[in-house]
Amino acid sequence: MGFLIDLVCTKTDKAYSKDQLWNLSPEADAPLFARYDLDAVAKVMRREKLAERIPTMWRYAEVLPVEDEQFQVSLGEGFTPLLQATSLGREIGVPKLYIKDEGLNPTGSFKARGMSAAISRAAELGAQAIAIPSAGNAGGATAAYAARAGLPAHIFMPKDVPQANYIECKVLGAHVELIDGLISDCGKIVASRKEAEGWFDISTLKEPYRVEGKKTMGYELAEQFDWELPEVVIYPTGGGTGLIGMWKAFDEMEQMGWIGSERPRMISVQAAGCAPIVRAYRAGDEHAEPWTDAETIAAGLRVPAAVGDFLMLKAIRDSGGCALSVTDEELMASASKMAAAVGSFPAPEGAATLTALEKLIEQNLVSERERIVLFNTGTGLKYIELFH
Ligand SMILES: *Cc1c(COP(=O)(O)O)cnc(C)c1O
Repeated sequence: MGFLIDLVCTKTDKAYSKDQLWNLSPEADAPLFARYDLDAVAKVMRREKLAERIPTMWRYAEVLPVEDEQFQVSLGEGFTPLLQATSLGREIGVPKLYIKDEGLNPTGSFKARGMSAAISRAAELGAQAIAIPSAGNAGGATAAYAARAGLPAHIFMPKDVPQANYIECKVLGAHVELIDGLISDCGKIVASRKEAEGWFDISTLKEPYRVEGKKTMGYELAEQFDWELPEVVIYPTGGGTGLIGMWKAFDEMEQMGWIGSERPRMISVQAAGCAPIVRAYRAGDEHAEPWTDAETIAAGLRVPAAVGDFLMLKAIRDSGGCALSVTDEELMASASKMAAAVGSFPAPEGAATLTALEKLIEQNLVSERERIVLFNTGTGLKYIELFH
């Protein structure tokens, strides 16, 4: 293996060595993207042969950052089911409806993908300890993959984080601190202590590889739709790694000749009580102003400021998509509707995509002929206290 060439700054295009640990690019404070030798990858990884490979995200190992296979830290993440939701779709007027069920990942959310990639690479490059601010599922996934890698994890969570996430981190052996504040306050604590403590900070998009794990959702979509991407993808957006990652995956696959130039319209869904990307999208802005007094029961969407805001906004616009928000009442109603209709208990964040779809249908922004994918990004089981 070893198709990773270097890391590229998403603002300046300056290249950085792949052989050391990086957070944001030093000169622009922007996320770094991994660049691979895709011509060489295309020669050894053939889409026709993928079916023979392991049914996890590591089936796409050549476009993942780990160079020596022994460093792959895996709990079986990825290659989640793409559920047909035809009867629910018919009921609301879009029969070609699908749900990508990320709740089946280890630790119950798609955060597993990002952490599998990031902690693998961090271990390969010699990290001694991991630290992260988390509003929920990222903490659980960090604790699990750090445990699997044999690395200590330091997790800072807002004190109103769902109980399941907190308990999960503790049981998995992480050092957990509850903070009286938001995820952004937790992030400040990690930033101020990491140097003295020798922690590697794996905050969303502040290191280059979580987005690499999350991009595998884009590869899977293409593979599961037999290399004809769907017309619409609806995705609940917090830090935006999933959206940004899938957008990167589509470009990589096009460069390898796996897909053409068509892209799904990328629809970003946020909670009405924390919708910085929606506001920036509507205002035509390139960056999003931080949201004050962020409040929503959907913990994964309670992200008042995202370092990758400009990457999200660009992907949404370049794809011809849009951004919209839904209220907590609406998304909770959608959770029950989605669960009963398809037999999978969604996270509130995932359920928000169904409300968003209903709004798009009302505004004639999707058609009954289109294939539409809702991302259920996690399992509702982690949020049971919200449902009784
Ligand atoms: C973290 C999280 C999100 C937001 O994901 P991003 O890719 O960072 O935007 C959505 N849903 C759930 C369940 C999450 O845990």
